[in-house]
Amino acid sequence: METIFKNKVAIVTGGTSGIGRATAIAFAKKGAKVAVVDWIESNETVNLIKDLGGEAIFIKCDVSKTTDVKAMVEKTIAAFGRLDYAYNNAGIEGVSAPTSECTEENWDKIIGINLKGIWLCMKYEIPEILKQGKGVIVNCASVAGLVGFAGLPAYVASKHGVIGLTKTAALECAKLGIRVNVVCPGVIQTPMIDRLTGKTKEAIEQFTGLEPVGRFGQPEEIANAVVWMCSDEASFVTGHAMAVDGGFVAQ
Ligand code: NAD
Repeated sequence: METIFKNKVAIVTGGTSGIGRATAIAFAKKGAKVAVVDWIESNETVNLIKDLGGEAIFIKCDVSKTTDVKAMVEKTIAAFGRLDYAYNNAGIEGVSAPTSECTEENWDKIIGINLKGIWLCMKYEIPEILKQGKGVIVNCASVAGLVGFAGLPAYVASKHGVIGLTKTAALECAKLGIRVNVVCPGVIQTPMIDRLTGKTKEAIEQFTGLEPVGRFGQPEEIANAVVWMCSDEASFVTGHAMAVDGGFVAQ
């Protein structure tokens, strides 16, 4: 096993499901100690932490709440003594509705988790990474951060916001040793997509049809991109929005 992250510490938010889960596993395989962060703890979470080995912990945290996020970073430091990488991935799809029918409740919930949540995570992660003088943050947006999607106004706005926020943090951190990038997944086979398709044949075909490669991406294909962006192989990459999307935004 190539342990490029040996003695390093990574936070993965939304780490118990889908893309976050795959990324927590990818970090651990490369030798990192991982803080798996989520607002839901299940039996599967316990198994995941066991599978990640003795150097992983679970931290319960709602990323849209300041007190939770501050405590989450403090618990990571208390457990592992440092912070090198963060993959700020937690997000929700919310309820689909056109702009004129989107409710204030839906808007606030999606923006609160998908956009404010990422700002809060970086707010508390950056000072800790600065103590090492080197580290990487990768945020999670979407192809919905690069183009519009009818019926998803709050989701699209949140993901466009994540890209702007990432670029700003990257510029602020450029001379401080912290790189900040953002991954923009296409349609990835996760519980989120299962909820959106309802697992019906028709909806699955419709979503698959969005992808030029003619298939869904797998969570591990996003995890690989995140791990690469955190590695020294990507040492000159910062402020970058990387589509990992089977060609979706090339259309
Ligand atoms: P998922 O639903 O499988 O996983 C999301 C995880 O985030 C869950 O474990 C959930 O409990 C957690 N979470 C949600 N709100 C949270 C909160 N407030 N605090 C802490 N944890 C919270 O979904 P996924 O597909 O793996 O999505 C991961 C990220 O990828 C999301 O930001 C999503 O918007 C983005 N994304 C997904 C796709 C896709 O096709 N699956 C495409 C583009 C972008």
